Amino acid sequence: MLQWLYRGKFWSVAKIIGIDLGTTNSLVAVVDSGIPLVLADGQGRRLTPSVVCIPASGDPIVGWEAKRSREVQPETTVTSIKRFIGRRGGDINLAKEFLAYPITNIEKTPITIPLHGCEWSPESLSAEILKTLKIIASEGMLDKPEAAVITVPAYFNDAQRNATRKAGELAGLKVERIINEPTAAALAYGLNSLKEKSKIAVYDFGGGTFDLSILELNKGVFQVLATCGNTRLGGDDIDCKLAEFLSRQIINLGGPLVEENANMLARLGEAVEAAKIQLSTDSETTISLPFLTQEFSFEFVLSREQLESLSKPVIKKTREYCLKALADAGLKSNDLDQVILVGGQTRMPLVREFAAEVFGCDQGKPELNISQNPDEAVALGAAIQGGILSGDYSDLLLLDVTPLSLGIETFGGLMNVIIPRNTTIPVKRGEAFTTVADYQKDVLIHVLQGERERVPDNWSLGRFTLEFEPQPKGMAKVGVQFEIDADGILNVLARDIKTGNEKVVEMRSAVDVDDADVQQMIEESVEHAFDDIEERRWIEAKLRLEQTTAATLKGMEAYGSDLPEDQQREIEIALTEAEGLLSEKEKGGALTAASLKEFNSKLDSVTKPLADLMMDKVMEQMLKKQGVLPN
Ligand code: AMP
Repeated sequence: MLQWLYRGKFWSVAKIIGIDLGTTNSLVAVVDSGIPLVLADGQGRRLTPSVVCIPASGDPIVGWEAKRSREVQPETTVTSIKRFIGRRGGDINLAKEFLAYPITNIEKTPITIPLHGCEWSPESLSAEILKTLKIIASEGMLDKPEAAVITVPAYFNDAQRNATRKAGELAGLKVERIINEPTAAALAYGLNSLKEKSKIAVYDFGGGTFDLSILELNKGVFQVLATCGNTRLGGDDIDCKLAEFLSRQIINLGGPLVEENANMLARLGEAVEAAKIQLSTDSETTISLPFLTQEFSFEFVLSREQLESLSKPVIKKTREYCLKALADAGLKSNDLDQVILVGGQTRMPLVREFAAEVFGCDQGKPELNISQNPDEAVALGAAIQGGILSGDYSDLLLLDVTPLSLGIETFGGLMNVIIPRNTTIPVKRGEAFTTVADYQKDVLIHVLQGERERVPDNWSLGRFTLEFEPQPKGMAKVGVQFEIDADGILNVLARDIKTGNEKVVEMRSAVDVDDADVQQMIEESVEHAFDDIEERRWIEAKLRLEQTTAATLKGMEAYGSDLPEDQQREIEIALTEAEGLLSEKEKGGALTAASLKEFNSKLDSVTKPLADLMMDKVMEQMLKKQGVLPN
């Protein structure tokens, strides 16, 4: 029935569909005559569980049917695929995942899931979900969708974004854009307030991820001012807490150890989520698991208070991200006009109360906005982005930001930031660098992501070598340009400015770092801010001392004897002192960045007569060359 309704209705839909490829559920939406709509399947269901079951023979089963088959075939039913997309097994805390299905290639990228003799990648499994969404869309649109905008969490790195794009392509879709979920949600809300200038926070608490973004909406222009989050914090964690609690109750009642049986675990998982959802509207619910074993059935009455006390530690974790994003945007909560709730987990009353409390919504400003269906806002926003790309909303623009700073390693082991954190993307920025050794044949471009001053404290995204024409140090010029496209993918270009020889490398992402966690990086940068700055000053002061010492030694060799003896002696004493300082490997004691800086100034003033003399000599040679002075 619904299909027919849609067939009649979608006569002017945009060709680009919007897809919210969620950890728990996925949705597809389109823009119809300027209005974004979520499409339902033949049975009127708008959410498609992001679950894929691989049967022994035949095609993969996706969605609701796969979710049901999880109870019967947990070992071949894959859930939470999004947690693994574009990631290496070594980066995943498998103990935390409660997985019934196997994962191989633990140390490699990408991981694979062996099912019925076939190695499935997260991309190919996600492609199965996307194919199902494509079918739902084609049923509703009369026409086959050709292209899509797919959303990802704000903290997805390049590898995760690329893998998502690949999944779309495997599903036969042209992926026009990969956009951040909170940005998409803001688009969905922002349509109603096109003319208003306002600042909003998007509190997105889904099944597997939490994101907090601060956006500014101004006359149809959306700009993300700051974004913060955790790719491993979501409603699933609440389910885990509840599952742990109930499995203890089962043991206390003389029942089996649920964790050791994949089938029981799957049944408990289903029951737990259903109970959690029920308690968003009811004050009490009964969890019933008949015949867990032949002798044991489980029944338990769970109250909303019990669920809330189990969930509180998980929900509370979102506070720090809210405060951090506000600080990054340079705002106080009452500078915000609205807090938008997105993601299925925000249907839980305690989550709403908590978000309202963190942002002080009870004080009157900002207003807690729950006018959109939290499950659908992201998909609607993706469809709107699709509409923008196909020209349906010409007065809307979409701007995103970089979640972490990007830069390269420079001499002394410091990170030189080229694109700072929270820069609006797409962006192209470059800088010129020079060589530190004479006649270097090549230079290593080491690309880094992070907020710390020293290279080892940041994430290494990759490195490559650019060969160039050897020149004396300081003469060669290497241009380095970072370009982040609208999908957040980083391309690094390095060019020998003299010859034009260049190399462009698409960077892989921070998954190469063990247990990579953006939030941890930000926290560490705050914690070590003072030491890091001191370290940078120290390294820079030491480099400066090295350069001045080397130049002074050369100058003294060439022209030292032309200086009065007392000046020569003064410089020699300073040089001995400098060499002594440079032989110190570690800073400490009296040797600090400040003391080095002081010494550098002293060295500058002591060596000034030599520097002046050198300059005179250079000028003299030049004038002789030009014939102004006789040879
Ligand atoms: P999403 O990733 O946005 O699809 O959100 C999925 C998460 O929201 C899952 O953890 C669901 O259990 C949770 N969820 C969905 N509906 C509700 C509800 N009514 N109350 C509490 N949690 C919900």
